[in-house]
Amino acid sequence: MLDRNPQYIGVFFVGVKTTSVFCIATCRARKPKKENVEFYSSFKEALVNGFRPCKVCKPTENASQAPSNAVMAIEMVKKNPKKKISDKILRKNGLNPYAIRRWFKKNYGMTFQAYQRMYRINNAFKELKDGNSPTSTAFDSGYESLSGFGYTYKKLIGKSPINSNERNIILIDRITTPLGPMFVCATVNGICLLEFTDRKMLETEFSDLQRRLNAVILSGENEHTKQLKKELEEYFQGKRKNFNVLLDTPGTSFQKGVWEILGEIPFGQTSTYQKQAIKLKNKNAVRAVARANGMNRVSIIIPCH
Ligand SMILES: [Zn+2]
Repeated sequence: MLDRNPQYIGVFFVGVKTTSVFCIATCRARKPKKENVEFYSSFKEALVNGFRPCKVCKPTENASQAPSNAVMAIEMVKKNPKKKISDKILRKNGLNPYAIRRWFKKNYGMTFQAYQRMYRINNAFKELKDGNSPTSTAFDSGYESLSGFGYTYKKLIGKSPINSNERNIILIDRITTPLGPMFVCATVNGICLLEFTDRKMLETEFSDLQRRLNAVILSGENEHTKQLKKELEEYFQGKRKNFNVLLDTPGTSFQKGVWEILGEIPFGQTSTYQKQAIKLKNKNAVRAVARANGMNRVSIIIPCH
């Protein structure tokens, strides 16, 4: 990396913790201190760990010589970081969505939609972390194109969250686990989200949580977050089988019932939707149970998969 050796383009990706961007070997930008970098062997790994492609060395274009249609799609995401680029928009710009999807899958190990999602979320998280206008970054503005998402932060709050006493606060932090990087969200009442950063449902869950808890998302941690980190560490070391940390899981009474039953499955054992439905005394609700499992926002602690 210090030699800017072009032979290592695409062999490693380096995340710079101070700026949250990731680079390829030849980047011309000033070299960061060793303690501020993290090395990854794949593009996807750098992305799911919260880094954004560097604007100087452009890993998206240069790491694996993208054809012109992929370059165009990447450019569209960069220019519209908060907008969802649908297949329809791609077609309007003369791009074949199937070709784009295939290229992303083959070269980055993820779909174009997943790439966009990570890009949006990483941007939003970084802005929140920097304390940049939470009004515009509370994981909602600009997402009006996503289905089921009908409000913007302004509409919801009408004023800055700093001055707002009526709104609750959700604190978001990112942690690393042996299974991959995760987001953890907490309110004063407990943990309300624990999800892998590449989870497809993430944006829906963020907006759902904000609506249900009448809250805004800000960067930070509280005592519940700290307790969870400690318990997760013990869990992954094999020293813990049950979690004591408090949860705050808003949902319908049916969903809550389903999640409660999930929580009762003993460590190391599995269950089925059918068994869950019978336990709920509603043996025909198998599909509804499956759906409610899918809506669970607190993975590992409420073991849904
Ligand atoms: Zn760079």
